[in-house]
Amino acid sequence: MTRPLVVLGATGSIGRQALDVAEHLGAPVHAIVARAPSQALADLGRRFPDARVVATGGSLSERREVTEALGARAEFGTDAMLDSVRVPGTIVVNGIVGAAGLRASVAALEAGNRLALANKETLVVGGAVVLDALARGGGEIVPVDSEHSALFQLLLDSGPAERLILTASGGPFRGQERADLEDVTPTQALAHPTWVMGRRISIDSATMANKGLEVIEAHFLFGLPYESIEVVVHPQSTVHSLVVLGDGSFLAHLGATDMRIPIQYAITHPERSVTPVEPFSLEGLTLGFESVDRSVFRALDLAYAAGGLGGSAPAVFNAADEVAVEAFLQGRLGFLGIAEIIERALESHEWSRPSGVEEVVAIDERARTLAASLVAGVC
Ligand code: MG
Repeated sequence: MTRPLVVLGATGSIGRQALDVAEHLGAPVHAIVARAPSQALADLGRRFPDARVVATGGSLSERREVTEALGARAEFGTDAMLDSVRVPGTIVVNGIVGAAGLRASVAALEAGNRLALANKETLVVGGAVVLDALARGGGEIVPVDSEHSALFQLLLDSGPAERLILTASGGPFRGQERADLEDVTPTQALAHPTWVMGRRISIDSATMANKGLEVIEAHFLFGLPYESIEVVVHPQSTVHSLVVLGDGSFLAHLGATDMRIPIQYAITHPERSVTPVEPFSLEGLTLGFESVDRSVFRALDLAYAAGGLGGSAPAVFNAADEVAVEAFLQGRLGFLGIAEIIERALESHEWSRPSGVEEVVAIDERARTLAASLVAGVC
């Protein structure tokens, strides 16, 4: 029997798949958490009649709809969410999008729970503060991000790694020149070739800012220096990542591009269970690997620079990216402007080393304000 699950970001892509996995495993669901008190959240509440249902945001009238559907099982506000992730013995699947996922991750780890982490911003933004909560609370992090799940599994019995190689699909604009990307639209940027994902992560894949976030995430998860973490473009997304060992061996993790596999593994680890996915075959498959065109996908080098600076810099990278991606989706910023905003935010922010969650949150908020003013200056 699997431990009870708390699913954060329940109406999003990762959250919905996590609930499908819970149903498939027969795992009890302790709480279902989303930001908006939507009809979709109420529907999930009906589907899991024993779960607490928490909406952290929304107006009073919007909340009424969920209360009418679910009665006393409906709870509201950030404190209700934090209360649910602190319930001892639960597995917290964090599928929140963006830096908003930090507080819940830290609370879960402080309570000694397992954090099945899809919210990569937790480690990018919180870094050392999150690792401190992990050490103090005695919880554990099992990554859900496909690349990190692969590395986590490979490193379980590989011995020490010399290098980590994160694979990247290259996104919808692989092979394009810089000039080709001046006028691309959100619709073009949202069309990811191999993975079906949420909106922000799809744009981040098109700019490769997502791979930059993943490099920083890998640094904190596995403790290797940035110069030992590489990125290679692998358009088929079949090899999810690789570990390079001291004797020259490369270990690779392969499989279908279906997020239910890493989500389920993060729940069942160290055990494995059958996943209800399409049969996967290597027959007829050609695997290709190429280097990243760093003059086109500048966000990747900016992420390495932010990682190397450490302290507040990765949080600034992330906040500027979130603000710029939103502006791009709303047609207020060009596609190439996203990396430009990140670069200028990193240059002009005041560097510091946060020592707790509240300081991290303040850095994030200041960086958003800075990035918003930079976006306003561009358009
Ligand atoms: Mg990934």
